[in-house]
Amino acid sequence: ISLPAARFLIAAARASDFPPDSGREVALAGHSNVGKSSALNAILQRKKLARTSSTPGRTQQLIFYGLGGEDRRLVDLPGYGYAKVPPQVKAQWGRLMEEYLHGRGSLAGLVLIMDIRRPMRDFDKQLLEWADFYDLPLHVLLTKSDKAKKNEARRTLDFLRSDLASRFPEVGVQLFSALKGTGVEEARERLGAWLEF
Ligand code: GDP
Repeated sequence: ISLPAARFLIAAARASDFPPDSGREVALAGHSNVGKSSALNAILQRKKLARTSSTPGRTQQLIFYGLGGEDRRLVDLPGYGYAKVPPQVKAQWGRLMEEYLHGRGSLAGLVLIMDIRRPMRDFDKQLLEWADFYDLPLHVLLTKSDKAKKNEARRTLDFLRSDLASRFPEVGVQLFSALKGTGVEEARERLGAWLEF
């Protein structure tokens, strides 16, 4: 499927800046440098829509994109993870994320993006806890799958599927490569279904 063209709506650093909680939206999260912006750009067929997490100030902002109009949205959640994250930055990040996740009725699902070579870091575990707590449908992209050997990729995929299935019976876990185009269509279909396109 092809998704409607995406348009930047707002970069929000506080709840009062979030767009109205109507329609449907899907949020994407990932530890910094996992390839989240590359994944987003590949899924949306855009060269440079999403900014990389190395953009200054990016850890404190949620970036909202409208797909077609404003009542179908993608939300690029802030990641973190450079070597040392000061505790106060992490706490601020946690507050902002909870402000968003708490009672966001239009949130139809969460896409967690992990580097296939380094899944389940602290960041990911925190996200999974929230997904569980807020009862959010979950989809997992294992990015940079082109960098893993085929059998290693398979093993990680199988391990995560069974590991997550106990908490998230409906979870989808898939390989993804922005470089090779692996899994782009599968990801698009998941997003399209959640957003009811
Ligand atoms: P973000 O910080 O999570 O938004 O990550 P970026 O999308 O900026 O990507 C971080 C780095 O990983 C960049 O150097 C990308 O070129 C690289 N990268 C992203 N996706 C892939 C992929 O699928 N395969 C490979 N080999 N490299 C990737």
